[in-house]
Amino acid sequence: MTAINIYHFMPDKLNLYGDIGNIIALSKRAKWRGIDVDVTDVKETAGLKLSDADILFIGGGSDREQAIATKELFKIKDEFKAAIEDGVPALTICGGYQFLGEKYVTPDGHELKGLNILDFYTESKTDRLTGNIVIESETFGQIVGFENHGGRTYHDYDTLGHVVSGFGNNDTDKKEGIHYKNLLGTYLHGPILPKNHEITDYLLKAACERKNIEFRPLNDNTIEENAKKVIIDRLLSDK
Ligand code: GLN
Repeated sequence: MTAINIYHFMPDKLNLYGDIGNIIALSKRAKWRGIDVDVTDVKETAGLKLSDADILFIGGGSDREQAIATKELFKIKDEFKAAIEDGVPALTICGGYQFLGEKYVTPDGHELKGLNILDFYTESKTDRLTGNIVIESETFGQIVGFENHGGRTYHDYDTLGHVVSGFGNNDTDKKEGIHYKNLLGTYLHGPILPKNHEITDYLLKAACERKNIEFRPLNDNTIEENAKKVIIDRLLSDK
């Protein structure tokens, strides 16, 4: 049977606050549908061909690790951009989200060049935007997660949705993340996918459609939905 190939970029450097859980959620929800999953850990990118990848995943990292990872990803910048433009589903978290833009400016004014795959930028401050977050999303319903970032990201693309509790992209917009074709960028750790099965299934469905693999709904998401409800009730009752 055909498998879904997930490319996990720099797992040794970009894995803050349990981001590896996103790979586990994708694998589990694929396997529950009888779909096999192969995960490729990409530590070096020279000569890497993205044509075999069905889902791209980049986790979050500290400024230091982000700088090392960006250098590595620069080597496949054009292929990465082409894959995104072609509609390959991708999830990028926090540091991984930030460096898809034009630049990341550290709190002391040092400018890290981004991959410039999309037209946005991030400026970081020393006070961090930290805590649990609830988002209302037209595409995914209610999204919950945890954020911890100094970076403030600014853009006019579609987002994951409107922030009901927490911060999101920056101090002012009340929007979270980015949604461009099948690319989702977000500040949500925690990790995001086990807490939000709708987003996991969005990525899997897009991958299956591109590969002509049957994608059927799962009958029972009660545990996932109850867990999410507990978080939402707790956070919104504090407001
Ligand atoms: N270094 C970035 C920031 O603080 C990303 C942190 C992260 O990935 N959590 O904004």
